[in-house]
Amino acid sequence: MKKPFFLLFALLASVLPPLHAGGLIRQIVVHCPDQDQREANDPKPIYGDRVFGQTFIPSCDKISFLRVAAAGTGLSANPGLELRLWQCAENYRNTRAALPLATVRTESPIGWARSLYFPMEAALSPEIPYYWELAAPAAPTPQTANWRLWYQYGNSRYERGAFAVNGARSGSCDAHFTTYYPVTLTDRAALAGFPEIVEVEFTAPVAPRAVKVNLSPAAAGGKSFSFWRDARRLAVLFEPVKEATEGAVTVQIAPSGQTSEGVKMNFRVIRPAGMPAVAPPAAAPVPDLTPSPLNEADSVRHLKGIVRVTASEAKMVDGKAEFQLEVRAEPIVGMQTPWKEVSLATLAKFRSNGINAVTLALPAADDKAEVYSQAKNALELLHRYGFPVYWLMPPTPAGYDKTIVDAAGDARSMAWNGKRLKDYCYNHPQVRKAFIANLEPYLRRLKADGQWLDGIILNEPSRRWGEFCYCPHCQQLFTAEYKIPMPQPLRMDAGQTAIPVEWPSGIPKANYRKPEDTAAWKQMSDFYCRPLTVRIDDIFRICRAAFPAVSCQVTTIDDIAPFYGLDFFGSIMKLKDLDGIQVAVYWAAVGARSPLAAGSEPLAGKFIKNAHDRKLTCYYWLQGYDAGDNSQPLKPGEIKVAVKAAFERNVDGILIWSYLNPILGPWNKPYGWPEYFRDFKAGITPQLERSAATEKVVLRPGEKQTLTWRSGDNGRVIFRIEAAWPGSGTAAVTGFADGYRCGRTTINLK
Ligand SMILES: [Zn+2]
Repeated sequence: MKKPFFLLFALLASVLPPLHAGGLIRQIVVHCPDQDQREANDPKPIYGDRVFGQTFIPSCDKISFLRVAAAGTGLSANPGLELRLWQCAENYRNTRAALPLATVRTESPIGWARSLYFPMEAALSPEIPYYWELAAPAAPTPQTANWRLWYQYGNSRYERGAFAVNGARSGSCDAHFTTYYPVTLTDRAALAGFPEIVEVEFTAPVAPRAVKVNLSPAAAGGKSFSFWRDARRLAVLFEPVKEATEGAVTVQIAPSGQTSEGVKMNFRVIRPAGMPAVAPPAAAPVPDLTPSPLNEADSVRHLKGIVRVTASEAKMVDGKAEFQLEVRAEPIVGMQTPWKEVSLATLAKFRSNGINAVTLALPAADDKAEVYSQAKNALELLHRYGFPVYWLMPPTPAGYDKTIVDAAGDARSMAWNGKRLKDYCYNHPQVRKAFIANLEPYLRRLKADGQWLDGIILNEPSRRWGEFCYCPHCQQLFTAEYKIPMPQPLRMDAGQTAIPVEWPSGIPKANYRKPEDTAAWKQMSDFYCRPLTVRIDDIFRICRAAFPAVSCQVTTIDDIAPFYGLDFFGSIMKLKDLDGIQVAVYWAAVGARSPLAAGSEPLAGKFIKNAHDRKLTCYYWLQGYDAGDNSQPLKPGEIKVAVKAAFERNVDGILIWSYLNPILGPWNKPYGWPEYFRDFKAGITPQLERSAATEKVVLRPGEKQTLTWRSGDNGRVIFRIEAAWPGSGTAAVTGFADGYRCGRTTINLK
């Protein structure tokens, strides 16, 4: 319903006759929740230059009240609040620049049960985004504000919008709020939700004490709160009632010296399909997921993907087993997933959207028994359902053994100015020992528990650029090796720890060094990279000792340009036995910035070629929230472009950062995981199906066949298929391809 029609509706309402001829009650309007989010873990004071808001998508065509959770200390002392409602434009600025659909200014808001209620009257269009914003312009500082607005930090409790502070949306945060829509109550009305506000309009002013409004059934506790919207309209707030399928509103008036009057109206609560009044709690779906167990023995170090084998039309013909066999070489498509979120439902969602691998951050530095066992169970579940697992790890994946590192005395790295840096100095033998002492047993324990890792990915291992270590230990080592003291930078602020450096040499920029120190700085740069290289070598060695087939990989930062400490091919780092890298350069043609802003196309081509010449696996690192360059929110369709561009540049697979991260679209086109998955699936499906072969297989009893098939895309992948049938029951097929995990299936013969 559009606005003019709604106004007409309101106008008609005011000239309606009373419910009973000559009676005092003109009409009863109930207000039911439309959009609703009632979880919160963080209060924030509201004051002048800080405004809070929430985008939401109504299911109904009107809004009559907005509830926002707030903690306050009383009504009279509060600074004025201002609430405004807009239809979302493509960005915050344009949204705010438009005329609000409603503005509510109040010195004394209706505060009840730790919530503020703002009455308003606006017509909305269902299923398009709106934005409400709450401000307290009269409160210049947080100290003078009495209201603290409650919201949910993280976990994206409301999927149809997001919380915003000063116009910056936090995709995973949500206000504790409810929008209500009005329904004029008639007897035996069918309501789409249980009312929480009952409003009675009288034909003449009545004494407040003479009126009793009741809503049944009542919530536990049965509290209510009444206020007069004007001389003839009384509104009563009730606590939410869940799961009720019917109810009644009773109004009784007993004015002194007049005949008392009462009315009771029954209603039913229905939930029309597709338009739930309140988002139903996420029911645990029964995931449709077949186990397809992986074995550690099938691990492939240069893992390009997984062979899928499926058989159909299996039958016996003249004593022979016959079936159609499809083999497919799927590229690795991995999703970064918190280990706590690894469940059958999550994996079913991944499988149905083309995601076939998972990257995890394992809690190896946490020594709580239940944390270990939950993470171990996550690994077990992933492997049982056929998902290869990569441990996406920081450069200190399991922390340090405290006893050993403490025994080393002061072993932290130190900047040129003597300031202690965050991490320990890996040149210190005790630090290295303390590092290994934690990582080794963790992996041994996983192995003893029957688990394994398919890959490890060292995430952005570069050290802080130009943050050279001047600790006494390093100074001594450096002088012993080069027979000179460590060079000192020029023109630095006393508190600045990182020296601006040139790329890729890693030596200070010209105006930060004495010209005669250039040779010494080159030695310094080399010396600085060494402990990081040693640390990565240690990690690779320890992981391979536990899991010989584990793929050892690193991610690049931002770009494939040879960053300091990460120049794999320029040999600064001298990393041995690298198995793969993740490149974040192919967000070509995606986002507002040109692909060249993120990384030059010729450089990208050279990087991939270098990686493949060195037989490294190369995955594309697809960002979840903005498809790559962190410059603009994701717009529908962009993932498809990014995925296609990446495979056109010959990557082996895609890793996505990350499941359950906030995903934002333009203000008027919210982009959440359902939309992301839909777009991603459309982009990845052609890649998953690209290299496949289908043929008929016929086996005699007791026969084993080894077949060689070429994939339909000009034989890009060569499959070796081993098919065997003992003569009764089931036939077994295994499909192999170079660089792919093998796939298996058993075929039931009738
Ligand atoms: Zn040091």
